[in-house]
Order: sequence, then C-alpha cells, then structure tokens
Amino acid sequence: MSKVRAKKYLGQHFLKDTGIARDIAHSLGLNNYSKVLEVGPGMGVLTQFLIHLDAEIFVIEIDKESVSYLKKHYFELDNHIIEGDFLKLPLQEIFKEPIAIIGNFPYNISSQILFKAIDHKDLIPEIVGMFQKEVAERVVSPPGSKKYGIISVLLQCYYNVEYLFSVDETVFDPPPRVKSAVIRLRRNDREKLNCDEKKFIQVVKTAFSQRRKTLRNALKSLNLVDENTGSHYLSLRAEQLSVEDFMNLTSCFE
Ligand code: SAH
Repeated sequence: MSKVRAKKYLGQHFLKDTGIARDIAHSLGLNNYSKVLEVGPGMGVLTQFLIHLDAEIFVIEIDKESVSYLKKHYFELDNHIIEGDFLKLPLQEIFKEPIAIIGNFPYNISSQILFKAIDHKDLIPEIVGMFQKEVAERVVSPPGSKKYGIISVLLQCYYNVEYLFSVDETVFDPPPRVKSAVIRLRRNDREKLNCDEKKFIQVVKTAFSQRRKTLRNALKSLNLVDENTGSHYLSLRAEQLSVEDFMNLTSCFE
C-alpha cells in the first residue's frame, strides 16, 4: 500500500527519523500504569516501537487514510485503533484506569491537547511527546521567564515537567516551519489544592491576560475579599509568581 499523503489541515508532518521515534517511545517510564494512548499515529513511526513495550497500546487517529494504513500494517493493534478526534474522546468512559499519552502531536491543536490533559490529570500519569519547540519551552518555563504563562502554571501545578531534546525540522516530511522538541510530564503527588481550583484557574488566566500590568491592576475584575491579605503579591506581575504563590493569592479571593 502506498504512503499516506500529508494533509496540511490535519497538521500532518511525518517523522522520518526512526532513531528519534525510538527515543520518544522509550522515554515512557511505564510506572504505575499499563495502558498507553498514542495521539495521531499517522503511518505508525512511533507505534512500531510502542507495540514492543510492556503495555497495552491504543491509538487514536482522525485521518481515515492513516487509519487504513495502520490497519494493514499493524495487526498487533487489532481492535485498539480508534478512528476519531482526540479532543472529543471521552477518556474516562473509555479507559477507566490510568493511561499515558504519547505522540508526535498535531501542532495545530497542541494547547488543546495539553488543556485536555489538565482536565484529566488524575487519569493521565504521564505525557511524552513532540510539540513545536515554542510550546515545549512554555510548558517547562520557570517563573521569571518571558515564556512562563498560563500553560506553564497549570501544568506545573500537577506535573513534573522535563525538556528532553530538540528536534530539527529536516527530519519530517514535509518539514514544518518551526523547530520541535520532546518533553515529558509526570503527575506529581499534588491532589487537592489548598484553594478553590476553579478560582485558581481563573486567577492564573486573568493574571496572564494582562501580563505586563501589576496583579493589582490585572486582577481588578475579580473581587478581592481583603485588599491587605494579598498585598505582597499585588505589586508583582504574573510571571513573577510560582505555582505556590498563585495558590496563596487565590485564597485571598475566596
Ligand atoms: N505520529 C506520526 C504523525 C504525526 S503528524 C509521525 O510522527 O509521523 C500528526 C498526526 O495527528 C496526523 O497523523 C494527523 O492526522 C493526526 N491528527 C490531527 N488532528 C487529530 C485529532 N484531533 N485527533 C487525532 N489525531 C489527529
């Protein structure tokens, strides 16, 4: 069967370098879970290594042509190929137990994939994958950096994040316009926040939506219960606060 024709609107950039694919697959820790879901397998460059791991492998692919290719080439996947949109997949209903997420992800939906992971943090113990380098850097950025933002705070709240390696555009067909990077996120042991979670997310999002203002101004629209309690933070800007700081600050709004 001939190869899958790359479709731009699906963010298809097929990885040509099997060494890199192997390194990505082997970056999974496989601790405390036995299921793995690959998002966007395409022609299976990663899948070929995943199926040899000691785990039950599922794949979800939106592209019909790729799904037929996978069915022909990976008999091992058997009925573990889901044709559909990862963003619409009811993870909890389908998997019920911890499942790691892996992929050379479609870059057009990278942030949405990460936000979905945050929503299902207690089902997803580990995420390994390739993103555009700029997104990967935002995920791992510490406070104080220009790249530190909403996605950094929300992910670092629940995951330990690691930048594994950078990847050149030349190893893809067709090459994307941007550089790429592989990162790994492992669920930390934070269960309940010491503040209201919905409020925390709202505070983080509002704070960064006007990141150059001091928090006193950026957060005006949220009603602070006691102006004095949060005063130490209010003269700072969003990027200066750690995850802990954001939780403390949120308590002042409750
Ligand atoms: N993993 C393959 C393909 C990467 S390209 C490789 O490394 O070569 C990204 C893949 O994600 C494509 O196959 C594309 O069809 C698929 N994709 C895009 N949007 C998707 C979505 N919403 N849900 C599932 N798969 C998606």
